[in-house]
Amino acid sequence: MRGEGQIYHTLSNGAGGRISRSRRQEMYVSMESGYERGGGRSRLMQTRTPQLKAPQSKIPASRGRSPAGSVPPASSQGRSSRKESGGIGPWLLWLLIVAMAFAAGLGTGWYIWERNTGSTVSLASIQAPEWIDQRLIRKNIYSRPAVSLRQVNDIVVHYVANPMSSAEDNRNYFDRLADQSGDGATSASAHFVIGLEGEIIQCIPVNEIAYASNNRNSDSIAIECCHPDETGEFTEATYDSLVKLTAWLCDETGISRKSVIRHYDITGKDCPRYFVGDEDAWKQFKKDVQAYQGDWGESGR
Ligand SMILES: [Zn+2]
Repeated sequence: MRGEGQIYHTLSNGAGGRISRSRRQEMYVSMESGYERGGGRSRLMQTRTPQLKAPQSKIPASRGRSPAGSVPPASSQGRSSRKESGGIGPWLLWLLIVAMAFAAGLGTGWYIWERNTGSTVSLASIQAPEWIDQRLIRKNIYSRPAVSLRQVNDIVVHYVANPMSSAEDNRNYFDRLADQSGDGATSASAHFVIGLEGEIIQCIPVNEIAYASNNRNSDSIAIECCHPDETGEFTEATYDSLVKLTAWLCDETGISRKSVIRHYDITGKDCPRYFVGDEDAWKQFKKDVQAYQGDWGESGR
């Protein structure tokens, strides 16, 4: 009679406590007869018990089986979660590689800076005359990496490509590049900027590299020239100062006039525009430098 008690107990629980005893008896009888139609009392006892236990016993059973792989959904879940955890490794590795590459690109300047700080070259002994306004920009990886310029092979002439901007504007622009961060950062600078009034500002010591002349940054000195309009033609004052500064630099560094070049001669860039568009003006400029220098010597054409 244990089986009957179980069924009865289950029914009364399911229907709530208000069902009268006689009603319970009816319910029990109808249940019982229902099962009896299917195969008799003993069968009810056998089949009913597992059915009642099923909800509890099935879960542990399926859990127990899943590691063995006999239940596809459970085992495939297990595999896929293992796959995911295995797949994160390579992704993290790639992320790390990309991050390191990025850091290396940005960090090169810092690294070389650390390595070269304190090194002395002969260029360090060059003293700027009073007609050069020395207003050095801050050391930073974008415009003044503080990398030693060990040798000067060329003096490179540029134009700022920003009509009516002053030497100070351009000097401050180079300085403000220090405040950049992240992607899309700009690297630009020059050792000297000559303004519309002929004023000369020095932004970077001649024994450090500037970021002006692409692959020639490492062995050249850069001069930026301001200009009043899009033609890039210099004012007379700018031009005269460019002649004076170039002659002085040739004297100080001991290089020949052949080594005074345009940005155009390095990369083909339209810079300085006026001297690229007018070859005669460029030739005349070099003659003027020679004349200013006076005793330039026999080297060069
Ligand atoms: Zn240029």
